[in-house]
Amino acid sequence: MTLDDLKAFAEEFVVAEYEAIVQKLMERDERKYKRGRRKFGRYEYGVDLVGGRGWDLDESYFECSQRQLPQYKPRKILVLTLHKWKGERIGVMWVSSTSHKEDDPRLFHQLRVKNIEGRLRVISLYVICVTCFGTTVRGDGKPCEDCRGARWVFREGERFRLPAPDQIEVLHTPTDPKNRLVLEHIQSTVKRKR
Ligand SMILES: [Zn+2]
Repeated sequence: MTLDDLKAFAEEFVVAEYEAIVQKLMERDERKYKRGRRKFGRYEYGVDLVGGRGWDLDESYFECSQRQLPQYKPRKILVLTLHKWKGERIGVMWVSSTSHKEDDPRLFHQLRVKNIEGRLRVISLYVICVTCFGTTVRGDGKPCEDCRGARWVFREGERFRLPAPDQIEVLHTPTDPKNRLVLEHIQSTVKRKR
């Protein structure tokens, strides 16, 4: 996997994920919805990024969905990094969550991507620590005990410690000052080429 592969995957993934969310909220035809879920399933492995919906889909479900829909936007890809892990290359994309604050993208989810049998798939979901916002320091100046300096908190999928990145590409620089500190940290850990 190269950084370009990861970028191509990320761009395709954010659209597919958004389409799957729209289908979950709006598709009245259960067979079409299930087909869509299977299609999106090719992007993930051991994680459930969109979630299912219940069996009792009455009119109130769709009315509620209709109101929720404007909250969702495709994720914005902020930072891509490539890591070598256990002899394999693993990609990581830091992306903002689906949100209406598209003009103020923040680091929110960290999605880890791996080549599984010839296809890139998201294998882990991490979320930025909500106590220190990834800075490792709490609001009162004390070290963050929630993430214990890890900056990110595990959500689901494969759990493992990331080695330092071999490569990085910043697609969007976050405007938030705390996010900038996180980005500076990531940049400072990139292995130097010899
Ligand atoms: Zn923390």
